[in-house]
Amino acid sequence: MRPARALIDLDALRHNYRLARELGGGKALAVVKADAYGHGAVACARALQGEADAFAVAAIEEALELRAAGIRAPILLLEGFFDAAELTLIEQHDLWFAVATPWQLAAVEAARPAAPYTVWLKLDSGMHRLGIEPADYAAAAARLQALPHVREVVAMTHFARADELDRDTTRAQAAVFDEVTAGLGLPRSLSNSPGLLGWDNLRNDWARPGLMLYGLSPFPQPHPVAARLRPVMTLLSRVISVRDIAIGEPVGYGAHFVAARPTRVGVVAMGYADGYPQFAPSGTPVAIDGVPGELIGRVSMDMLTVDLTDHPAAGVGSVVELWGAQVPLNGVAAAARASAYQLPCALKRAAREHSGG
Ligand SMILES: *Cc1c(COP(=O)(O)O)cnc(C)c1O
Repeated sequence: MRPARALIDLDALRHNYRLARELGGGKALAVVKADAYGHGAVACARALQGEADAFAVAAIEEALELRAAGIRAPILLLEGFFDAAELTLIEQHDLWFAVATPWQLAAVEAARPAAPYTVWLKLDSGMHRLGIEPADYAAAAARLQALPHVREVVAMTHFARADELDRDTTRAQAAVFDEVTAGLGLPRSLSNSPGLLGWDNLRNDWARPGLMLYGLSPFPQPHPVAARLRPVMTLLSRVISVRDIAIGEPVGYGAHFVAARPTRVGVVAMGYADGYPQFAPSGTPVAIDGVPGELIGRVSMDMLTVDLTDHPAAGVGSVVELWGAQVPLNGVAAAARASAYQLPCALKRAAREHSGG
C-alpha cells in the first residue's frame, strides 16, 4: 500500500479545544466545517462529544453527516440556509442557523415550524461580507424575538483582520458590535481563532474556534499563546527510491533544482494530489527519520524529492514527515506562500489514521 498517511492526534484536539474555551471565557463552538479542516469531521466531533458545547459547520450537508454519525450536540450552520426549503431539514435535525442577510430573515418570519428555532443573528461590524447592517440590526433582532417560533437569538459578528496584531481594526469591529448589541440582552459571539489567541478582553458567551483546534496558528510570527497549542495532524510518507546525481544534473519537472554538489536524491510518495502544496520551493522543511531536511525540485502529482546528501543513514523506506509534530505546518505554509488554513483543508488521498479517540 502507498505509505502516504495523515496521523490525527485526538488528544491534542481536545487539549486545543480546552485552551480555546479557557481563552473565550464562556462556551465554545468547535468549528468542524470543511471536514474539520481536513482532519475528519466525524472523528473529530466524536472525540469532542461530551466536551464541546456545540459544533459549527458551513452547510447543512456537513451537519447531516454529523447527525448521521450520531452527534447529538447542537450544530450551528455558520452561513445559515442557502434556500428556505432547507428549513424543513433544519427543523427535523434540530440545527441552529445563522441569519446573515435580509432574505434569510424574511424566510424565518414566513416559516411555521413545529419546534422553535435557535437563530444566530450576524452583524456586519466591518468585514462587509455577510451580516446585517448596524443601522438595521436592532430591528432585525426585534423581529426575530417577536416570533413565537424563535426560542433564542444569539448576536454574532466575524473579524476580518484579527490575525494582524498591529492593527486596530479588531478593536474597532468589537466596538461596533458592543454599541449595536448593547441593551439587546442577547448572548454574544465574536471570536474566531485569531480573536481568541491574539486579543484579550473580548467578552464572548460563545467563542468560535476553528483553526486553533487543529493546533495551527493563524499568525505569521511566533506567538506565546499560540505556542500552547499542540499539533493535531502529522503528514508522513516514505522514501521509495534513491539515486546519486553529479554536479549540474537537474531533478524533476522543469529542472527547478540543479545539483550544486554531488547530491543524493530521495523520492518520496507524496504529491500535490495528496494536498501537499504544488509550489513548495526547494528548501521547504521536511524531517527524514526524525532529522531535519529539505525538499528539492518541483513537487509532482504523486511524488516529491528530498535531499539525502546529509542523511547518510537514510534510504528506501525512511520515514519522511511533511508536517506535524516535528515540522510545523505553519513553516511549510510560509515557504509555499500558502496559509495554515489552506494546507490541511487540501488534504486528500493520503489515508487518515486517528488515535487518542
Ligand atoms: C470558519 C469560521 C470560524 C472559525 O475561524 P478560525 O479562524 O478557523 O478559528 C468562526 N466563525 C465563522 C463565522 C466562520 O465562518
